[in-house]
Amino acid sequence: MEELSFSEAAARLGLDNTPSPIVRANLKLVAACMEVIRTLLGDKPIVVHSGYRSPQVNKAVGGVTTSAHCRGLACDFVSPAFGAPAEVALAILESDIDYDQLILEYGWVHVGLAQEGLLSRREALTKRSPWVAYELGIRD
Ligand SMILES: [Zn+2]
Repeated sequence: MEELSFSEAAARLGLDNTPSPIVRANLKLVAACMEVIRTLLGDKPIVVHSGYRSPQVNKAVGGVTTSAHCRGLACDFVSPAFGAPAEVALAILESDIDYDQLILEYGWVHVGLAQEGLLSRREALTKRSPWVAYELGIRD
């Protein structure tokens, strides 16, 4: 929970990143999913880059306002001990983990979950840089 609510940008800019009760409930789903992912990756350590982003923090980092991060439903992470982000994304793609969105980003993996009670889209995408469109599938 702490890892998922910590924001380097918030700390640096002195912004509040305290999750609301609803966001905390969502973050618990993400934390449980990340435990499953860690097991999938052979219990290799996971380094969280970004979990929850409060509206102020999201704005400061230039995130889209509809971002699942703002609802506490997403996690950006790497697991260098397991492999490159593409290898991590492929392992999740081939698993039966119930993700809503799996995105291989330029340097990390984004996993987004559906709100409790909603169906997961199981959408897999690749984004090679901030300036290009999403591609369908996980593409190395
Ligand atoms: Zn993300």
